[in-house]
Amino acid sequence: MAGPDAAFFDTHVHLTDPRFDPDRAEVLERAAAAGVGRLVEIGDSPDEWARVLAFVRARPADARCALGLHPYYADQCTESFLERLRAEVEAAEVVAIGEIGLDYARGPVAPDIQKAALRRLLAACRDWGKPAVIHCRGAYADLRAIVAEIFPPPPPGRRFWGVVHCFSGEPEDAEFFAAAGFAIGADGPATYPKNEALREVFRRVGAGSTVLETDSPYLPPQSRRGRRNEPRAIPEIAAALALAWGMSVVEVARLTTANAGALFGWP
Ligand SMILES: [Zn+2]
Ligand SMILES: [Zn+2]
Repeated sequence: MAGPDAAFFDTHVHLTDPRFDPDRAEVLERAAAAGVGRLVEIGDSPDEWARVLAFVRARPADARCALGLHPYYADQCTESFLERLRAEVEAAEVVAIGEIGLDYARGPVAPDIQKAALRRLLAACRDWGKPAVIHCRGAYADLRAIVAEIFPPPPPGRRFWGVVHCFSGEPEDAEFFAAAGFAIGADGPATYPKNEALREVFRRVGAGSTVLETDSPYLPPQSRRGRRNEPRAIPEIAAALALAWGMSVVEVARLTTANAGALFGWP
């Protein structure tokens, strides 16, 4: 592990989840001790936004947030929801809109409703100048079509329109999103010994388009399988990518943290 020499950025956490109620302060201390100096807390639905904002406002040096509407709740994407989102994302702590997306594997909302909501939400990201944190499960072909419809190539000076978080698609999908101006999120599954296919995805897109994330409390890496995940798992994900890319963990930290800074406008 790289330890505190490396400055890591966990781009996707749910630390306001009640599973962290007993020991949230210790979780944050362990993250800092592992070199994870920054994180982005994700608000999946308006019910969570106040909690998420309070969490990051208490940690101005190392935490920002994204506010969104997980595809599980896509049927709540009304006109009044969008007005409320627009007002909330003006706060300086809100560095992105998300998570938003498509989930055909587990989402309880019909795909057509999910797609209609995502079109409106991605158009809002584009029009309001906020990066998108996109969740996608079992829907990469539809996501590609919608991204191509909403986003032109990124203008000069802007590298990313957003991130496809917890990437689980094919190498060709990852290459498509990287070319369209999206970062690709690498999580715990990249550390699973049998998941050579996912490491191939990151070999193909390279360090220039990759950001690290734990999605805590979900998606633990190999060393924590079956347990609650924490941001201190970031160096383990970085180590798996360092092997795949043939570079040092410190170099992985440097490159992926710079990508995350550019993505969220938090240099
Ligand atoms: Zn997600
Ligand atoms: Zn998430």
